[in-house]
Amino acid sequence: MKITVWNEFRHERTDEAVRAVYPHGIHRAIADHLASIEGFEPATATLDEPEHGLPQALIDSTDVLLWWGHIAHGEVSDEVAERVQSAVHRGMGLIALHSAHYSKPLKRLLGTSCGLSWREDDLHERLWVVDPTHPIAAGVDRYFEIPKTEMYGEFFDVPCPDELVFISWFAGGEVFRSGMVWKRGRGRVFYFRPGHETLPIYYQPEVLRVIVNACRYLGPRDTATVTGIGAAPQAKVSPEAGR
Ligand code: ZN
Repeated sequence: MKITVWNEFRHERTDEAVRAVYPHGIHRAIADHLASIEGFEPATATLDEPEHGLPQALIDSTDVLLWWGHIAHGEVSDEVAERVQSAVHRGMGLIALHSAHYSKPLKRLLGTSCGLSWREDDLHERLWVVDPTHPIAAGVDRYFEIPKTEMYGEFFDVPCPDELVFISWFAGGEVFRSGMVWKRGRGRVFYFRPGHETLPIYYQPEVLRVIVNACRYLGPRDTATVTGIGAAPQAKVSPEAGR
């Protein structure tokens, strides 16, 4: 499975506290783990590369794209955002991580503001599994905890998901839909909340397990061969047809 881990890669180069946690970037931390999984072939791409590291040829060969961005969503070109969107429509999986709730590709695919409430207080979070049959939750207990996290709270302005996998509870009393899947065209989108740039969340085994599960779930699979969408009108039938 060809996986591309995309990162804005700005905090890690400008902020000492972030570099201390992710010295080679969030993308490398995640990709290094994915490389240890049999059958996974991870590549990385970052904002400041030509075409943000996502030329059409790479997108065309990517089964699942992971996206992490925070302070430079507006610097992502509309052309590349459109490229990601149409790749999802053709069947690519997209995993939007944490602050990628405001990323251009996700907002285009969901069609809402994707706004939410938040607070940086480094308190703990409990992620409850609300669909124990869901493959993305495979191997997770009733819940898992992140000891220090940034709070994201409802209302999260996204469309009702097709599949809800995790709901988070925070020490301040807030709740949040932390793991959601939407079907878009032939592809699927998974939003997964954990992962603040100053906290070592992308080294936590439960978080990495969910990301691996999500890659498998959003990756290539056999589907119906539906042709003719947007093509010529269907042939006319006589009133006797089907009797
Ligand atoms: Zn954050």
